[in-house]
Amino acid sequence: MNKRGLLTGWDKKYVSEAKKLNIFCYSAQCDEEVQGVLNGFSPKDVIRIYKKIKPCKCGASSPKALETECMGDFDFSISCNKCGRSIVRTMYDFDVKKPDGWIGLCIRDWNNGVNQEEIDAAKDAEHERIRLKPEDVVWKPLHPNNLANNPLEGYYTLLFRKQRDGKIFGYKWTIEFQYEEIGPALSSSLINSYILFGKSYMDLDSVFTYPEPAKKYEFSKEHENGCVDGVNDYGDFFYAYRSLEEAKEGALARCAWNGLNRDTTMKQ
Ligand SMILES: [Zn+2]
Repeated sequence: MNKRGLLTGWDKKYVSEAKKLNIFCYSAQCDEEVQGVLNGFSPKDVIRIYKKIKPCKCGASSPKALETECMGDFDFSISCNKCGRSIVRTMYDFDVKKPDGWIGLCIRDWNNGVNQEEIDAAKDAEHERIRLKPEDVVWKPLHPNNLANNPLEGYYTLLFRKQRDGKIFGYKWTIEFQYEEIGPALSSSLINSYILFGKSYMDLDSVFTYPEPAKKYEFSKEHENGCVDGVNDYGDFFYAYRSLEEAKEGALARCAWNGLNRDTTMKQ
């Protein structure tokens, strides 16, 4: 923001006009609602923003607008004290692409007469649309040391997405078979669990894939291929599942934690 903008927006007349509007800013830190204030906006901006909010669809004017900040997370709500309609939008809403976008989104919904139930239903539908599905992911056979002659020990997949800075974030999910134990040193051919392991990668310059399992052992091959580690590096234990399908679902469900979804996952 330039200095001139700051000065104009902060004229006394704007400050006192904003203080009369039914718009507030709350932060967990100071634990009180401050009237006529929004984070990052001058009083002139606050007036402009509040004037965009139409009366409630029940006819009541001057609905209450409230921006809440907690540990750097923001949301913006508008509510009517006559009919009780109240809606909220957060900085995590899917269609919020720019700073403070949640405010504009909330005002648009309010002016369109939307209810919170409709917002939640739309969010759920969007979650479902972008959630990674089994058919989006290719699981490759896991042979110890990536050696074809070694027995099939499970499956793995590599998934990547672009970070904001252009670098790449990645996940490796590995599902290892656990065989039923029939004695201290022996196990049967029956699989009793599918153990999910995961490893994440930050700031990669490019994606990587492991080569097809080799006929004979050549340790360097995975590394020559730009890999940051080998197929033997499973990462952290997550959960032991009863079936392979459940283990795959478990991996995909966790992808959302780091923003991997149908829209963001890079095609390989
Ligand atoms: Zn109302």
